[in-house]
Amino acid sequence: MPMKPTEKIWHNGKLIKWEDAKIHVLSHVVSYASAVFEGIRCYETKSGPAIFRVREHMQRLVNSGKIYRLEVPFNAEELSNAAAEVVRVNKMASCYIRPIALRGYGDIGVGGLSVPIEVYIACWEWGRYLGPEAIEQGVDVCVSSWNRMAPNTLPSMAKAASNYMNSQLIHMEAHANGYTEGIALDTNGYVSEGSGENIFLALDGVLYTPPVGASVLTGITRNSVITLCEDLKIPVREQMIPREMLYIADEVFFTGTAAEISPLRSIDRIKVGNGSRGPITKALQEEFFSILSGAKTDRHNWLTPVSVPISAGTH
Ligand code: PMP
Repeated sequence: MPMKPTEKIWHNGKLIKWEDAKIHVLSHVVSYASAVFEGIRCYETKSGPAIFRVREHMQRLVNSGKIYRLEVPFNAEELSNAAAEVVRVNKMASCYIRPIALRGYGDIGVGGLSVPIEVYIACWEWGRYLGPEAIEQGVDVCVSSWNRMAPNTLPSMAKAASNYMNSQLIHMEAHANGYTEGIALDTNGYVSEGSGENIFLALDGVLYTPPVGASVLTGITRNSVITLCEDLKIPVREQMIPREMLYIADEVFFTGTAAEISPLRSIDRIKVGNGSRGPITKALQEEFFSILSGAKTDRHNWLTPVSVPISAGTH
């Protein structure tokens, strides 16, 4: 997806020009993928732009860093304010926000504990990730020949750059074979997640999603969907899912900041349900999007308006 540059990027507490947000090729992160990051959406609502679950995303960023002993020198509150500031100064109505904390320049030893940590927050315009029709019509996907990382290799709960080399293998293979996306199994052969999305399936009126132990990123959209299921009285279970359950499910959908809630219409060329978006998927999408657009009350406090600083004087 090509990026349309905006004016400013936040760097360690200051706003710099988009084109000045550069790092040295020998920065630690370039060789060793020593970065943790987030992807956040800012939606256009009736009362102006509002960022979706910004504090949860920023807390996950701080936690991802903690797993890797990469101490982010700002807390979730400060980072949330900074994200709002970036959206404001770039005058975005809606956008995608990318905070990233990385090990910078100074020492090329693998450990990297002595190199400075740089934090950036950028934003830019972004549409539907899996294509404009995906939300209604669904996408065609495959089960990947690549597994998600084993739990004692790269920790899936950290949203770390290194995990996305695995995601690239899954995504590239799927594309090369004519699919929109791939679903990875974990190293025990159970369903894990897409290259950048969590997965849910509906069977006989019950919704299932793989648990934290199945090498998934604990997605914030996943958590939001579980919350909406409680509101809408849809039974939802976090449990290990054998691959074949994907083929006999009535409905399957992906969740993620980029993918939002996107139905799958086929898996390995086997039709999901009757091949079109199912009623549970539709009900969850409607609830989700009406909260995000401001059409329904934001009863879970998911949206942070960017018009007003969250709290004054963070930098
Ligand atoms: N799994 C992976 C591997 C991802 O990259 C993402 C996107 N961040 C997700 C799941 C969904 O997480 P979220 O809903 O927090 O965007």
